[in-house]
Amino acid sequence: MIMNKRIPGLIEQLNTLIALPSVSCIQPELDMSNRAVVDQLGEWLEELGFSMEIMPVEEATGKYNLIAVAGKGEGGLVLSGHTDTVPYDETGWDFDPFKLTERDNRLYGLGTSDMKGFFPIVLDVLRDFSIKEISKPLYILATCDEESTMAGAKALVSAERALGDMAIIGEPTCLKPVNMHKGILYETIRLNGKAGHSSDPGLGINALEGMNDVINRLKDWRVSLQQRAQNDKFKVPFATMNFGTINGGDSPNRICGHCDLRIDVRFLPGMEIEPLRAEIRREVMELIDGTGLSVEFDRIFPGVPALETPVEANIVKFAEKLAGEPASSVAFGTEGPYFTSLGMDTIVLGPGNIDVAHQVNEYLELSSIEPMKKIIREMIKQYCTNNE
Ligand SMILES: [Zn+2]
Repeated sequence: MIMNKRIPGLIEQLNTLIALPSVSCIQPELDMSNRAVVDQLGEWLEELGFSMEIMPVEEATGKYNLIAVAGKGEGGLVLSGHTDTVPYDETGWDFDPFKLTERDNRLYGLGTSDMKGFFPIVLDVLRDFSIKEISKPLYILATCDEESTMAGAKALVSAERALGDMAIIGEPTCLKPVNMHKGILYETIRLNGKAGHSSDPGLGINALEGMNDVINRLKDWRVSLQQRAQNDKFKVPFATMNFGTINGGDSPNRICGHCDLRIDVRFLPGMEIEPLRAEIRREVMELIDGTGLSVEFDRIFPGVPALETPVEANIVKFAEKLAGEPASSVAFGTEGPYFTSLGMDTIVLGPGNIDVAHQVNEYLELSSIEPMKKIIREMIKQYCTNNE
């Protein structure tokens, strides 16, 4: 028996998903619920014979994960994507970001590459399977808030919801298998000194001069960080630290009372967010000790752990075989490290292109659809059916 086919075709599905706005953003005025996308995917998956769970995400009001499953038993395969998109700049678009436009063999729309386009491709493959053929668990996971706080993936971790023992995240990798990415941490360092008239340095404590010393100290720390480890799988094979913004003072004739510095650290697999953050804070606190300056820290966002799935993992090997090339790294963060912390061997492999994600005129190449369908089909056959 072939699964029920009463779901729309791939293009129509994608058009429907693109038309359902689901921006997630740490700025509350731009943030939206993802419920409509989850409900729509749920409806189609139910139609295909999947069991459905809609999981409210406690720390993010109006946000939900969708967990759909076919097959029974332990382990199994997870096909995962996020339902949210980044905010959009409508004035820059040549097309309506919420209407799928086909032009020059590309499908334009907000989230086509990153990554609503993954779901219709998966559903289109499932249409060809009989639900009875799915003998081992096959999960379709649709998460929320990947673009902002990763609240959806974190909720799975808090609930200890290990789904399968392997996962594919369909983030845009141009059909290349990816088994690693760096982690990310941000930090704001605020130095508080004392303002006073510029004519007499003894009247104040200059926070800007203090920050100059902090920057030099952190540059030394960066050298030590980079000497600790190298990983040639990355284009930039060491950890990086960027001085992104600095704000301080209000007038040339006043001693600078406050100065804020924001940094971004991209660290290698094997390094962890909180120990690194603690090191940065310790460096700064040691430096300002006895200067009369005080310091406040803010993490800006909780950070993203690094991903590294062993190249020996079965799913990495199989993905390499299907894609015809070795697994590599990407320069963006994903929900992968949360999944690996739940015991799932996770790869990132999807049809879109990260270069057009988070940009105006985002698109998905039509030519990427069939190769991605083939990869998904082979993965399901390999891991969730008896006719490998
Ligand atoms: Zn994405």
